[in-house]
Amino acid sequence: MKTKIVATLGPASVDPRTMKAMVRAGVRIFRLNFSHADAAYFRPIVRTIRGLERELDLTLTAMADLCGPKIRISEVKGSPLNVDQGGRAYLGLPGSARLVPDQAAPFLGLDLAEALRGLDAGAAVDVSDGMLQFTVRKVLKADELFELRADNPGILTSHKGIAFPGRTVPLPALTDKDRRDIRQALAIGVDAAAISFVQTPEDVRDLKDEIASIGRWVPVVVKLERKPAVDNLEAILDLADGVMVARGDLGLECPMPDLPVLQKEIIAACRRREKPVIVATQMLLSMVNNPMPTRAEVTDVANAIMDGADCVMLSEETAIGRNPVKVVESMRAIARSAEAFIIKQARGPVGSLDNKADPERTLAYCACLLAEQTGSEALVCHTRSGITAQRVSGRRPRQPIYALTPDPAVLHLLNMCWGVTPRLVGRRLKSHLGRCQRFVQDSALFSPGRSVVITAGQKTPGRDDLHTNEVKVYYK
Ligand code: PGA
Ligand code: MN
Repeated sequence: MKTKIVATLGPASVDPRTMKAMVRAGVRIFRLNFSHADAAYFRPIVRTIRGLERELDLTLTAMADLCGPKIRISEVKGSPLNVDQGGRAYLGLPGSARLVPDQAAPFLGLDLAEALRGLDAGAAVDVSDGMLQFTVRKVLKADELFELRADNPGILTSHKGIAFPGRTVPLPALTDKDRRDIRQALAIGVDAAAISFVQTPEDVRDLKDEIASIGRWVPVVVKLERKPAVDNLEAILDLADGVMVARGDLGLECPMPDLPVLQKEIIAACRRREKPVIVATQMLLSMVNNPMPTRAEVTDVANAIMDGADCVMLSEETAIGRNPVKVVESMRAIARSAEAFIIKQARGPVGSLDNKADPERTLAYCACLLAEQTGSEALVCHTRSGITAQRVSGRRPRQPIYALTPDPAVLHLLNMCWGVTPRLVGRRLKSHLGRCQRFVQDSALFSPGRSVVITAGQKTPGRDDLHTNEVKVYYK
């Protein structure tokens, strides 16, 4: 299968036998959700992942998903409270509760001055994952106390998440807890990090610096779940190694009907930049309880892949669902069908080439074209940074792509790219082309008498750097 399945681990799936069955069914990336557990909990799980890699001879990426600054209201007096549509409520710093003119009305305390600074009449306030929506009616005390009107009826309980759709809350995405978590996550051996509630490129830089400060590099997946992040997409993509369309929170931040359009725009931007993109949340949600997905869910998974997603993600479905393995099997079956459609639909063998494409992109395109025209079995790319394999993957060729890299961090990034099977190779070797040829000769994956297309880099006289500059049709 070419599409990569991301599965969130949780009580329903952390047992090693279930994990193994999930990998057999197609999971290549495990998401460790640090909103719900810590590194001590994940340590044996990462060990299991490493064991499965060896046992099944494939690459698995353990991705630590950092929880980020999810803002929550404090204790609500009299919780749970019924709120009527059009009903009045107050929002403010905890200390301002005594200034509320109507003490019988619900008071939402928020101990976060930054979130309230500059909040104005007309602003939207979502509580409890958007189940309860308010509009600010009046500013009673600037930056401190506000009168709200409920836009819908609902139940208000303590400690629920609160969001200010469309507003940039001047809060860094990386909290102190996240800094602790990423250090511990790296210490237990995770391969990638996902950063939540990003708003600006600086948020991404912050995590990259934190990782670099302990002398490491792992791919950083940016979760797009806030409107300012979507507005800053290009600058964020300069830094991100991959992206997640985090539809759960994004659907609260933006009008829900815009979500399909945002998904398509974000995926298109990632495809232009050849960065892997994950589509996440509620993909097969009904399977938490049911043995079969809905027609709408099946269509959603297929459409995400046809939009150009590299990965599709399961959340509750595998974390707390009744049958995590079955969900993965369902997802795989949908992906297979969607992939066949993508390949059939392509204009020409691997699409067309933008006539302004740079030499590297042209080379990736030519490799795919050659593979198609020579009836080759596979593409084999030697890649140190991963970029050549990412570019070849971006063309969505029908042939499998084997990416040989000496860097374990790149290996786990390439594992998120559509159609790529990454393989780790040693660091010391003169000829990359020779190494690829040996890989093809030695591996039972390739049939004698058939060809593969190899991309590799040969030294340019007088230059130290090494770029992919060779394409060869190699007959085994
Ligand atoms: P979460 O992120 O599951 O950590 O909230 C994904 C999303 O918001 O869609
Ligand atoms: Mn989220």
